[in-house]
Amino acid sequence: MLELSIRGLSKTYPNGVRALSDVTLTIPTGMFGLLGPNGAGKSTLMRTLATLQEADSGSARIGELDLDLLVQKDEVRRILGYLPQEFGVYPKISAETMLTHFAVLKGLTAAKERKEVVDALLERVNLFDVRKQNLGTFSGGMRQRFGIAQALLGSPKLIIVDEPTAGLDPGERVRFHNLLAEIGENVIVILSTHIVEDVSDLCSRMAIISHGRVLMTGDPAEAIGAIGGRIWQRAVPRNELEGYQRDHAVISSRLVAGRTVVHVYSESSPGETFEPVNASLEDVYFSTLHHAA
Ligand code: ADP
Repeated sequence: MLELSIRGLSKTYPNGVRALSDVTLTIPTGMFGLLGPNGAGKSTLMRTLATLQEADSGSARIGELDLDLLVQKDEVRRILGYLPQEFGVYPKISAETMLTHFAVLKGLTAAKERKEVVDALLERVNLFDVRKQNLGTFSGGMRQRFGIAQALLGSPKLIIVDEPTAGLDPGERVRFHNLLAEIGENVIVILSTHIVEDVSDLCSRMAIISHGRVLMTGDPAEAIGAIGGRIWQRAVPRNELEGYQRDHAVISSRLVAGRTVVHVYSESSPGETFEPVNASLEDVYFSTLHHAA
C-alpha cells in the first residue's frame, strides 16, 4: 500500500500571503478528500504535490516508491495524473486527437498500443461515441470526464483532482463521482474540494484545511460519530439570527423552505426550543471551522 507523507510543508507567496503553514498529512492509498473554503490553500498544496510550484520548506514522500515529490520532479510526473481546477482545452480539436496528443507527451510512442489505450480511456469515461466531436462543443461535465481520461494516461499511482465538481450540474456530478469511485485500487487519489458532499460520497479519509493550516484529519464516519449528540437545530426568524449567533455557537444557518434554520454546537441542550439532529459531515466541517475561528 502506498502512503504519501507530507511533513511541515509551508509556502508564503511574494505578496506575503501564507498559503500553507506547517502542513503535515498522511495520505494512504484510496480516495482522500481535502476539504476547505475558498482561499484555504488547497490549490497551492495540489500544485506543489503536482510539481508545478515550489514550497518554502517541508517534505512530501511516497516511501514505498522511494520518491521525494519536491525534488524528483521527472520521476513524479511519470506516476502522476493531474486534473487542474481550470482544465483548458483547445476548442477546435476533437477529443480523440487531443487525448492522442497527450498520450504522445506521456511517452506512448507505439501507435498501435497508443490507439488501444486512448480508445479504452474514452470508453471508460463514456466519451467514445463523441470522440470525433470538437472539445469546444462539450458540456462542463463532458470536459471534466475528458480531463479524467488525460489524468489516467500512463496508469498513474498518484492522482490529484482539484475542485472537479464545481460548476457541474447534479447529474454530471453523479457521473463524475461514479467515475472517480471506479479508479483502481493501489492508487492514491486526492480530491480537493469545497463541497462537503464530494467528500461524504467518495472518501474514506479526509482533512479539513483553512488559512493554510490542517484543522482535522481522519475518517469521515468517525468524525461524524465524534460530534454525535452535540448538534442542535431550530428555525429562527431572520431578524433574530444575529442574536442567536451572539448567544450560541451557531455553526451554520441556511434557508429551508423559506425559513432560516440554524445548527448549534453544544454539549447539552442549548434551550428547549432546540431539537437534536443527527450530525452530518457538513456539521463536522462547519463546527471545525467555527472552533478554529
Ligand atoms: P484554495 O485552492 O483553497 O482556494 P489557494 O491555494 O488558491 O486556495 O490560495 C490560498 C491563498 O493564497 C489565497 O489567499 C490566495 O489568494 C493566495 N494565492 C494563491 N495563489 C497565489 C499567487 N500566485 N500569488 C499570491 N497569492 C496567491
